[in-house]
Amino acid sequence: MIPLEDARQRVLSRCVRLAPTLVGVDDVYGLVLAAEVRSPENVPPFDNTAVDGYAVRSEDVVSAPIVLRVIGEIAAGAAPDVVVEAGTAVRIMTGAPLPEGCDAIVMVEDTERLKDGSEVKVVTAVSSGAGIRRAGSDITAGHELFSAGVEVTAAMTGVLSSCNVRTVSAHPRPKVAVLSTGDELVDDGGPLRIGQIRESNRMMLLRLVTEAGCTPVDYGIIRDDESTLEHALRDAASQCDAIVTSGGVSMGDYDVVKMVLSRIADMQWMQIAMKPAKPFAFGELSDGVRRVPIFGLPGNPVSSFVSFELIARPALRTMAGHPTTTAFRSYATVVVDSDVRRKVDGKVHFDRVFAYWHDDGRLHVRRGDDQASHQLSASARTNALLEVPDGEGLSAGASARALLFGPA
Ligand code: AMP
Ligand code: MG
Repeated sequence: MIPLEDARQRVLSRCVRLAPTLVGVDDVYGLVLAAEVRSPENVPPFDNTAVDGYAVRSEDVVSAPIVLRVIGEIAAGAAPDVVVEAGTAVRIMTGAPLPEGCDAIVMVEDTERLKDGSEVKVVTAVSSGAGIRRAGSDITAGHELFSAGVEVTAAMTGVLSSCNVRTVSAHPRPKVAVLSTGDELVDDGGPLRIGQIRESNRMMLLRLVTEAGCTPVDYGIIRDDESTLEHALRDAASQCDAIVTSGGVSMGDYDVVKMVLSRIADMQWMQIAMKPAKPFAFGELSDGVRRVPIFGLPGNPVSSFVSFELIARPALRTMAGHPTTTAFRSYATVVVDSDVRRKVDGKVHFDRVFAYWHDDGRLHVRRGDDQASHQLSASARTNALLEVPDGEGLSAGASARALLFGPA
């Protein structure tokens, strides 16, 4: 058995970032920037008012209350055509450009409209600059907005639009083929014949691929048949950037997956010192031009889930351009609510637990007993992997490390 860290190192060292492309701002959400982005423009592009009110000379209103003559009105989107002179004010709406001569805006709430709006009483004094948003006070032209390696969020797409960045250099979303192997698997909704089970990993893995920030491609259930499997794998390698398979990599397996992968790809068959998901295969299949990574996950549904989370996910995110900090989920320190008993077996256990914020302000975890690797339904009700180091286990109240894969 090898430590999880060694297995991850072997895998990640072979997974390289996909070459950047120019991506339009409409399509860049969720992608990782390949180069820093600088703003070509100031935002706001001109001095404007932050409030609805009156543009004034602050020196005119120091002795407020005071009445000023209203000489015009400027709406957002209009060009100012008046100049504020001593004793005058201009009605102005949020976002409108400032007229010449003014140096402050009095909020409409601090005024009284007089004589049908031809005059205004300013009730409170304002200091110079009040209510004004200066050109470039959000973004200064030429400055760096975002650095390479950052995943583009919704707010960032708004920022890019605000300063007219139409395209950016970003890593494409890896296309990931997902296929299940096993003669016992069915997904046609019909009655089960003896020995058959309903296929579950593929649906889960397709969605985990999406959650990892990649584009899943469904290659279906592949029978334990050499030529069918080889054909599917070669097709996937020519169409996709990575391949995720489930089933057929553990010790006792009927040999088809191992036989085919060993023959057509450059494989490493690993036994990882962890539970669940001890068996794991990683390899590369050449399509003649590229070497496409293959993640061979074990077939037991919980093992499939855990090895995807711990190994395939960070590798796929690395291909998507993430630096280590965001390729991996970060560990949280948690309090264990009840005793976690285990035996010494040379493995780190990753128990599926439910993490929640306790009244004491700390993250606690509750662990159920259904920890077997076929019990996917119990795992589906959890949101974290509790790391239980090799030993006798953890006592109630102890702190431990956990990886959150869902909201707490
Ligand atoms: P294997 O890794 O192929 O030896 O499979 C281990 C166990 O997981 C067996 O009980 C399989 O029937 C089950 N299994 C394998 N693949 C799937 C799948 N895609 N969906 C549900 N169960 C599976
Ligand atoms: Mg199998």
